[in-house]
Amino acid sequence: FMAAKSNEGYAIYEPAFDDHSPRRLTLMSELRRAIESSQLELYYQAKVSLQSGQLFGAEALLRWQHPRHGFIPPDEFIIMAERTRMIKPLTLWVLKEAFKQSALWHAQGKDLIISVNLSTRDLHDPELPDLVSGIAASTGIRPEWVMLEITESSIMTDPDRALEIIKRLNGMGYQFSIDDYGTGYSSLAYLKKMPLAELKIDRSFVAEILTNENDEVIVNATINLAHNLGLHVTAEGVENEAIMHKLSAHGCDLVQGYFFNQPMSLADFECWMQENPWQAAVYQRSS
Ligand code: C2E
Ligand code: MG
Ligand code: MG
Ligand code: MG
Repeated sequence: FMAAKSNEGYAIYEPAFDDHSPRRLTLMSELRRAIESSQLELYYQAKVSLQSGQLFGAEALLRWQHPRHGFIPPDEFIIMAERTRMIKPLTLWVLKEAFKQSALWHAQGKDLIISVNLSTRDLHDPELPDLVSGIAASTGIRPEWVMLEITESSIMTDPDRALEIIKRLNGMGYQFSIDDYGTGYSSLAYLKKMPLAELKIDRSFVAEILTNENDEVIVNATINLAHNLGLHVTAEGVENEAIMHKLSAHGCDLVQGYFFNQPMSLADFECWMQENPWQAAVYQRSS
C-alpha cells in the first residue's frame, strides 16, 4: 500500500477515501447531471408529537437513483459532494424541492414543519442566507415553516463562521436543530450560544434505551438539560412502540423512526398521511 503524510505521521492509503479515484470523479460529474435530470428525489419521514399525537412535520431525506449503480445512499454521495464542492448546488436543489413541497402543504391547510439537512460547507458559505431567502421568496414559503438540521461537527469545524451564518438565517425566521446529538464533540452549554430550537438525540442512544441503563440515563439527562435551555427534543431512530413509551415517560417531545414510517416517496407519504394509522393510537396511548 501507499502511505500519505499527515500531521500525525503516516496514514494507510485507502482507495475508498481518495477523492481522485476514477469512480468518485465519474460519480461527481454524474451528480451534476443528476441534479438536472430526475435521478434525485426527496423522501419524507414523519416527526410525531408525543404530547398531541399529531404530525409535527417531516424530514426531507435525499435519494439518488443512479441509472447504472442503482440506489446510492446519501451518507456516501454527500461526503463526496462536500469534498468536491458539489454540495452547494445539491443543497440548493434540496432546499428548492423542500420549500416547494412546504408551500403546497400549507396551501392545503397542512401545518407541517419541514426539516432540511445542511452540510458543513453550507455553514461556511456567506452566500447561503441570501440564496435561501431567494428560494423562500420564489416558492412563497415562510421561514417559520422550516427547520434546518445541522450537526455538532459541522458547527465545530469553524464555529465563528458557522455562528454568523446561523444567526443571519435565524434572524430571518429559520429554526435550527442539532442533528445526531451526542455523537460529536461539543457541549450543550457551548451549543447554547447558537440560536437553536431543537435537539435531535442520535439513534445510537435511542436504539438500546430499553436494555442499556447508561443510554437511558444519557437520554434522560439530555432531555432535561435541553428543556432547561429552552429547546424541544426529538428522538430519532424510534423503531418500536416500547421505545416510544419509554421516551414519552422521559418527557421527550417528538419522535421519528421506522415505527411511524420509513422515509418514503412523496406519493407514498401523502397516502401515509391520509391513512394516518398512528395518529389516534399515539394520542390515546401517550395521554
Ligand atoms: P440524518 O439526518 O440523521 O437522517 C436520519 C437517518 O436515519 C436517515 O438515513 C433515516 O433513513 C434513518 N432512520 C430514520 N429512522 C430510522 C430508524 O428507526 N432506524 C434506523 N436504523 N434508521 C432510521 P438516510 O436517509 O440514509 O440519511 C443518512 C444521512 O444522510 C442523514 O442522517 C443526513 O446526515 C444525510 N442526508 C440525507 N439527506 C440529506 C440532504 O438533503 N442534505 C444533506 N446535507 N445531508 C443529507
Ligand atoms: Mg437529519
Ligand atoms: Mg439525525
Ligand atoms: Mg443520524
